[in-house]
Amino acid sequence: MTIVEAKGISYTYPDGIEVFKNISFKVAKGESLGIIGPNGAGKTTLLLALSGLINNSGEISINGELKSEKNINDIRKKISFVFQNPDDQLFMPHVEEDISFGLSKLGYSEEEINEIVKRSLNSAGLDGFELRSSHHLSLGQKKRVCLAAAFARSPEILLLDEPSNELDPGGRKELTGLIKNFKGTKLIVSHDLNMIAEICNNVMILNDNIIKAFGGSKQILSDKKLMEINSLEVPYIYR
Ligand code: ADP
Repeated sequence: MTIVEAKGISYTYPDGIEVFKNISFKVAKGESLGIIGPNGAGKTTLLLALSGLINNSGEISINGELKSEKNINDIRKKISFVFQNPDDQLFMPHVEEDISFGLSKLGYSEEEINEIVKRSLNSAGLDGFELRSSHHLSLGQKKRVCLAAAFARSPEILLLDEPSNELDPGGRKELTGLIKNFKGTKLIVSHDLNMIAEICNNVMILNDNIIKAFGGSKQILSDKKLMEINSLEVPYIYR
């Protein structure tokens, strides 16, 4: 079953920078899709368009429902977006508030919210972090708080922008495990192609405003020529 469908989508920033042009693709429910490509290829912008944070032209459907101004709030409830930089996402005095932010608007009671915060912290390996200040945590811990906040909303689709960026090997391994444990649909933008190889069953290469390749992760990531012409490198596990 298709959960995300993009049909002929394009986006140009107000200053005239054209990012992607007339691209189409489908993501199946439960799939893990790696979105890769050189810097500036438009990967982050694509996640912003899918989550409804920017207005692209063309059609995006989530669960068969065409995204429009009317249903954007319902669609956003199904999607959690974890930004590349945790400081863009964490702004409350305590971890528990960063995680519960927005949950009361979804109709949960205080008791339910406390339960959700506890459960989400547990699934991000952060038991007991409720009253810590997000700003005093390590980068790895901040990234896990962002992941906990994403899990708290029980999303069907998780959008992750460079989740392992700047993490030490231990933090990267931990985060990879947590992402793998999420059973819903995942779209992951990353330059960490070893992590993409480990988590994703499919891969899209975005470059020069279009999708250069889309298919099985091993098939694409092990194709030396395809990777090189897109300024990418075959990850270690396929060398
Ligand atoms: P990637 O994630 O693949 O590195 P981005 O989606 O961040 O690429 O950026 C795609 C292109 O859009 C780049 O040329 C970048 O400079 C430009 N861009 C990104 N954000 C903005 C913005 N807010 N305003 C104008 N141009 C932007």
